Amino acid sequence: MIIPCDTCGFPSSEPLKITYHDKVGNYCCFECAMTLLAPVCPRCNCKVVGHGTYGEHGETFCSSHCAQLVPSPN
Ligand SMILES: [Zn+2]
Ligand SMILES: [Zn+2]
Repeated sequence: MIIPCDTCGFPSSEPLKITYHDKVGNYCCFECAMTLLAPVCPRCNCKVVGHGTYGEHGETFCSSHCAQLVPSPN
């Protein structure tokens, strides 16, 4: 069965099937999966594809460095 990639639409006979937040997606490659699924660091806007660092309000930062640089909202 040919399934189109959720990110780019590329048809793949062996897509990566990834379940994330109870939603199943089909991707042609890891890059497409990361493009759609990876959280974005609110400080430097890079894709967080590693463990990342969680902020006080549930944000995902790429590193503890970025997490410390974000000013508190009050
Ligand atoms: Zn794709
Ligand atoms: Zn960052």
